[in-house]
Amino acid sequence: MYFDYAATTPVLKEIKDNAYQLLTKYENPSSLHIKSKEIKGEIELARDKVAAFLNTTPDHIFFTSGATESNNTVIKGFYFKNKEVKQHYFTSLIEHPSVIEPIEYLNNFDNFSSSYVPLKTILNPYELEKEVLVKSPTFASFMIANNETGTIFPIKEIASTLIKHGAYLHVDATQAIGKINIDVQDLNVDALSFSGHKIFAPKGIGVLYLKDPSSIAPLIHGGGQEKGLRCGTENVFNILALKIAVNYFEAHFTEIQAHYKKCRSRFLDQLNAAGIEYILNETDGLVNILSIRFSMKGDALADILNFKYSTMISVGSACSANKNEKKLSHVLKNCGLMDHEIQKTTRISFGPETSLTDIDELVKNISNVLTVYH
Ligand code: PMP
Repeated sequence: MYFDYAATTPVLKEIKDNAYQLLTKYENPSSLHIKSKEIKGEIELARDKVAAFLNTTPDHIFFTSGATESNNTVIKGFYFKNKEVKQHYFTSLIEHPSVIEPIEYLNNFDNFSSSYVPLKTILNPYELEKEVLVKSPTFASFMIANNETGTIFPIKEIASTLIKHGAYLHVDATQAIGKINIDVQDLNVDALSFSGHKIFAPKGIGVLYLKDPSSIAPLIHGGGQEKGLRCGTENVFNILALKIAVNYFEAHFTEIQAHYKKCRSRFLDQLNAAGIEYILNETDGLVNILSIRFSMKGDALADILNFKYSTMISVGSACSANKNEKKLSHVLKNCGLMDHEIQKTTRISFGPETSLTDIDELVKNISNVLTVYH
């Protein structure tokens, strides 16, 4: 049983069913053959679909390999475009490494400095404005929702504060996509990133929205694809698959959100009914993510559930697992949790295919592990 939808999602059945037909479209979209032009046309229809999903027009949408690339592109591309002028970047210590690391990297360059805005400051428009007045940021990157805790940030308010003071705002929507309705015009952000594999498209496709496509310098130069902003022969299969995934979310958005809510209530009700003690690290976040502590270490609980009960939950983000040092989550630390609380934390995330029976089984398995191993 899979309860790690925040790490990634299975590829949508409709994409798998169409995979063979999509993979037969091998002609290069930049060639002059009739078939190539047809494929190019299909890419543009996919761009139209993604644009409509975000409430923008296709000239603002750029396909990348994923959120990591989208985040790097806008963070570094904005600096390279404006490097003659002093830059100060704002971000927070609960961002994904694909935001924190490129900013840390830019600290080695001329005319560049950055600072981390404390979580409580980001959440308070008055405090954020004070910080903006002191540091005069030119660029800020904040996530819409956190991947470990599900915490949702008041992006509209953040955007209005930053815009008032002339800063560029990039938002990482990778966890929020498919769970919060995202309207880039209403949010009034300058740039937005997400990955397709969080919404049932294959891995290796991402999106970068740019309000002003000329606001950044390209990082990948070459044959002029993606209007010269991200060159390289297009990943046709993944782009067309993303269109199918976005179609699915457009058609079923409300019912999926209702299902997530049902899953969450069922899970908490069942934990209560079983008399299992738990603490939620976030009570008001994304409805499908629970950052939750039980009475034993989270990594031990996750391992036993995996090996003994074939039940997959997570202790945090999958993205930091590649780093050699086994550090406690920087996100939870910066949310104010103590080390022993972080060690007990698990992340349980639901998907549209999670059934209520799966949830009952999950609670039974957790109860068994806590009884035997605690
Ligand atoms: N940002 C956030 C908030 C994420 O959760 C992730 C992936 N877990 C990423 C960025 C990076 O996405 P990808 O690995 O698909 O490039």
